Amino acid sequence: MPIIKLTKNVSVITGSPNTLIYDNRIVIDQGGKNSTLNISAEVQLATHGHADHIAGLLDRNAKIRYLPLEDYWSITLMGRRAMIYGCSSKDSSIFTFDYVKENLENIDLSIRIPEVETVKLPGHTPGHTGYIIDNILYAGDAFFGDKVLENFSVPFYTDFWTSLETLEKLKDLVKGVDNIIISHGPIYNKNKMISLLEYNIFYSKKIINKILDFISSNELTVEEIILKLKPNATPANILLNSMVVKSILFGLENVEYRVSSKGLVFRKIR
Ligand SMILES: [Zn+2]
Repeated sequence: MPIIKLTKNVSVITGSPNTLIYDNRIVIDQGGKNSTLNISAEVQLATHGHADHIAGLLDRNAKIRYLPLEDYWSITLMGRRAMIYGCSSKDSSIFTFDYVKENLENIDLSIRIPEVETVKLPGHTPGHTGYIIDNILYAGDAFFGDKVLENFSVPFYTDFWTSLETLEKLKDLVKGVDNIIISHGPIYNKNKMISLLEYNIFYSKKIINKILDFISSNELTVEEIILKLKPNATPANILLNSMVVKSILFGLENVEYRVSSKGLVFRKIR
């Protein structure tokens, strides 16, 4: 398991998500292929409720297990599906990202840990939270590695516009920390992470312009827009990206929508 030591007390076990460990006591975002690691942490923190970030919260030996309150939709599998795919339906194979099937229990409602500062970074999910520990900001899914962005074609932001505000807030916040770790992407030095943050802002604005361009000459459904952005989209991609593209479209003032024989269609009006 590749481990990167960042400071005397902070290590990151790389993965998707990258899992941060402080002093072998405090763990942030244990999930994905790191789910089965036996870290025996006293404190398990999740940045948000998505299934790939919450395996650590199932660790019954941890004294503190914290999930931000606004992400309590993640307590059940149905809630997680509703927030990721927009619906739940028995055990369809469309639910590709059901990494955790259990309910979350005995989660702590608040934390007061002297070593940890919490920072609200909403948009990806309502409660998405960053943690500053040993002056390193763990920014979770507030932004992504460039390959992750290109692979999904749109950044998975439940509220795209709130995420853009969070990215702007991060531009200030990162100045005061020694480094920034994101969940899905490479571990870089601080300057390269700031460039990646700026690239995420550029990329998000580029997506808005691409969508506006697509609907300036044609009325398109959300799914038609997604396929123009990512021609090889999988069924699960279509569901996830629908959430983001709808969030973008409903936040644009120069976009009109109506029901046509194709369904709900969008066009640019000026
Ligand atoms: Zn996520």
